[in-house]
Amino acid sequence: GEGLPRPEQTRIMVVANQKGGVGKTTTTVNLAASLALHGARVLVVDLDPQGNASTALGIDHHAEVPSIYDVLVESKPLSDIVQPVLDVEGLFCAPATIDLAGAEIELVSLVARESRLQRAIQAYEQPLDYILIDCPPSLGLLTVNALVAGAEVLIPIQCEYYALEGLGQLLRNVDLVRGHLNPNLHVSTILLTMYDGRTRLASQVAEEVRSHFGEEVLRTSIPRSVRISEAPSYGQTVLTYDPGSSGALSYFEAAREIALRGVGVRYEVQHAPQMG
Ligand code: ADP
Ligand code: MG
Repeated sequence: GEGLPRPEQTRIMVVANQKGGVGKTTTTVNLAASLALHGARVLVVDLDPQGNASTALGIDHHAEVPSIYDVLVESKPLSDIVQPVLDVEGLFCAPATIDLAGAEIELVSLVARESRLQRAIQAYEQPLDYILIDCPPSLGLLTVNALVAGAEVLIPIQCEYYALEGLGQLLRNVDLVRGHLNPNLHVSTILLTMYDGRTRLASQVAEEVRSHFGEEVLRTSIPRSVRISEAPSYGQTVLTYDPGSSGALSYFEAAREIALRGVGVRYEVQHAPQMG
């Protein structure tokens, strides 16, 4: 790793946007790998029953594998389910299996149903610099568990029409959880994804997002890149699949920006990400 400053306390980032296909999973795994390659110890919590983050990290998550379902519903300790990601040192994954699809309903009747993930994370004793939680495309109890467990919300926004549509609902949920269950919760980071610099639309959307959110928006945006979309089918992040690609460089740069912000250091562009 490049030796970026490490946070004093574990930073728990909830990657959320109730729209599907905006780049939540892609952002979670590639930022996590980037942070680990920068020298941090990072845990990815896969909270989507699809298990796409587990797949992308090359983690076995067939139905019999101990998973985040067992943690949330059966109160199994997180340490029983966490697996190391083999090709990236310092990177770990709490996998999701298809069982998790039922958890949304099973959680309803359990005590402390909103704070089961928070409790599991608090009881986890391994030292970590970052925990990134990949949320499903909904605002149900799984996402609420993530919002209660974390302090920071990271919203990936796809640079397309209607990019901001539906975000109001997510922001209201963040306010509700902050008001009732987790006073530390805030939207810390907005990341523009699938940015296609050749289109006027992308730059218009980017401008709209920046004027709406301001400081929270990372200066680094993620270009649309075939290498990024190919990597998961090899069980790899783009950081190991094609480290020199524009997609890998831009996630590495976004991770650097997040790490520097966290310790209050002003970010200066190092590698200008290629924009297609
Ligand atoms: P979500 O988790 O929000 O549903 P994903 O991360 O799964 O979204 O991304 C949706 C699709 O878009 C996936 O097929 C993914 O490979 C692809 N994708 C994500 N980011 C990029 C990108 N920067 N360039 C090209 N394809 C991307
Ligand atoms: Mg996803």
